[in-house]
Amino acid sequence: MQIIPPLGAGHWEQNLSHATIDWQQLFSQPNQWQAEHYASFFVVDGRGNYWLPSASEVTPRFAAGEYRAVYLGSVETTVSQATRMLPQVVVFGRQIAQIKLPWTPIRDGKQLTPTQAQLYSAGNGLAAFHLEYRFCHLCGGKLAISEGGWSRTCQQCHLTVYPRQDPAVITAILDDTGRMLLAHNVAWPAGRVSLIAGYVNMGEAAEQTVAREIYEEVGLIVKPTEISYLTTQTWPFPRSLMLAYKVVLTNPPDPQADGLEISWARWYSPEEYIEAITTKEISGPVNRSVAAALVKAWLEGSL
Ligand SMILES: [Zn+2]
Repeated sequence: MQIIPPLGAGHWEQNLSHATIDWQQLFSQPNQWQAEHYASFFVVDGRGNYWLPSASEVTPRFAAGEYRAVYLGSVETTVSQATRMLPQVVVFGRQIAQIKLPWTPIRDGKQLTPTQAQLYSAGNGLAAFHLEYRFCHLCGGKLAISEGGWSRTCQQCHLTVYPRQDPAVITAILDDTGRMLLAHNVAWPAGRVSLIAGYVNMGEAAEQTVAREIYEEVGLIVKPTEISYLTTQTWPFPRSLMLAYKVVLTNPPDPQADGLEISWARWYSPEEYIEAITTKEISGPVNRSVAAALVKAWLEGSL
């Protein structure tokens, strides 16, 4: 099952030898830099929003020192009937969210190709890493950008730290009549439903997390043989790697919500789900999430 568009939708290479960027010029004369270097840059706030400078907009002057940039790689792009590798640069900074820019949520994916969505998501995760990881956890020294922005190194003890993705599982729980279990998290807006999900604990295999989370949150017992792997999706808002599974239960009881994380959960047939969505009794998972893709596949009968 192909849920997440592959990077191969466009050719993306991370050849850091391209990363000879005149930062001073990029920050002080962004439009000129873009024209001269034939590269594209975009701005992220590290909280899941991006802004793409366009020719019609006045680009704010980014003061060098205040902002940082990471070279993400080059993407194959066709410009004026010629195919070339276009370097992609992400810009971010501690105060950047305060600049009045027409921010767009990356997860909405508005006007983004699959490759851009992936690229901007990576940019957001890296920006969050650089903004949050300021001091060395061993000696307390200051961390500085290293390896073109793909790591940070302690200025005191030289320890290098890398951006991490935390594994989390998400499970499409079905019964043998084709119903899907959907749950409402206490932290969500009223009516929002999604699939059972949770982080993989230390020392736990992902399949064990699936069984534990389902038991903890809705009280259903799942055997390892009932769990099958579906796909993965990176979710760098700021740093999760979602591992998606499917569970099919035979004649299961009604779910018992734990009342702590899940306030209610129930089984839906595809018809009941569509009816509840149409009447706005419930709303489905967030756009572009793996949960939304799994629900879509279920409705189409391809899960
Ligand atoms: Zn250190």
